[in-house]
Amino acid sequence: MDYQAFFADRLDSLRDEGNYRVFIDLERRCGEFPSAQRTKGLRRDEVTIWCSNDYLGMGQNPKVVAAMHDAIDRCGAGAGGTRNISGTTHDHVLLEVELADLHGKEAALLFTSGYVSNWAALGTLASEIPGCIVFSDALNHASMIEGIRHSRAEKVIWKHNDLVDLEAKLAAADPSRPKLIAFESVYSMDGDIAPIKEICDLADRYGAMTYLDEVHAVGLYGPRGGGIAEREGLMDRLTVIEGTLGKAFGVVGGYIAASAELCDFVRSFASGFIFTTALPPAVAAGAAASIRHLKESSAERELQQRRVADLRARLDAMDIPHLDNPSHIIPVMVGDPVKCKFISDTLLDEFGIYIQPINYPTVPRGTERLRITPSPVHSEADLDHLVGALEELWHRCQMARMPMAAQ
Ligand SMILES: *Cc1c(COP(=O)(O)O)cnc(C)c1O
Repeated sequence: MDYQAFFADRLDSLRDEGNYRVFIDLERRCGEFPSAQRTKGLRRDEVTIWCSNDYLGMGQNPKVVAAMHDAIDRCGAGAGGTRNISGTTHDHVLLEVELADLHGKEAALLFTSGYVSNWAALGTLASEIPGCIVFSDALNHASMIEGIRHSRAEKVIWKHNDLVDLEAKLAAADPSRPKLIAFESVYSMDGDIAPIKEICDLADRYGAMTYLDEVHAVGLYGPRGGGIAEREGLMDRLTVIEGTLGKAFGVVGGYIAASAELCDFVRSFASGFIFTTALPPAVAAGAAASIRHLKESSAERELQQRRVADLRARLDAMDIPHLDNPSHIIPVMVGDPVKCKFISDTLLDEFGIYIQPINYPTVPRGTERLRITPSPVHSEADLDHLVGALEELWHRCQMARMPMAAQ
């Protein structure tokens, strides 16, 4: 086989479909985010990032950066081992205490990323509990899907956020078998929010455990940044809350928070937890500082929500179609992969605005979009510039306006 030709061929078909992924080469400078320098060939341009998951700018928060510097000076670069073999540093222990407290749970368990936490925790629970059936929301993240698949447990997919369908599927299952309902709070591409309470009610009625991915909500919702479940007073009703340290908390890493027994169980049986080097202590220290700050400060959350409301109102005033949702995620709908990429490229090259186009398979074909995430570090002037650029491009490209395109 001509291996290289095979690779090139498959990549060509991605390009033909308009789905080839191009990475933008960015250099963030601490204190200036969302501004960054973009390198393309010999060009170096100043751009404003409008699609970051560093939702609150915590990646440059002085307390977070200082905690990381301090930990590097105290402990050096790496953890030096897996958690089991010398890699559990005091900073990891403190971070897990911080996370358990954030979610009102007995314990928490750290992983190297949110992806790994979903893959390892769901994979382990579903494979180790004999006869377990996993009820998975149709729009669950790839990391949950892969974890469930890896478990080889029976999987039942229920219609996205559809309680009637979930109940029908729970009712149809053997009452004696163990069950796990896996879902998210804020869904990252549409920005809609699950009916957590009602799902917990169904879980109680049918004897199921619940596993909630709060990756796009931790740090952002609830009086202490515990997520949607905290805001709605539901944290104690969830069996497992999973989150990331890489989005609103601005660092990297993932975790689950749950009962002491469940965390100990995953700690003891999850390959993806056991056989990998622990996060650097500086990462743990930075994440803990970020969580601590956001437990006490709501200023970032409030300003973010204000920026989100401002941008929505201004898109409405221009009739630019965007999905209405109750979260901080603003999906501006384009509905065509080539146009979506073109608008994104033009925003970047002509206006210094970076919004990554979101195409298939991340979203269904025909729903290609620009996913905009306003943050407290975007200024009024940034917002004016973005809105002006969108207005001009919508006009130039003769893009559909609402209400027609919103349907
Ligand atoms: C990003 C994401 C993850 C993975 O988290 P990382 O820390 O980035 O690996 C998990 N679930 C959802 C819904 C996500 O969007």
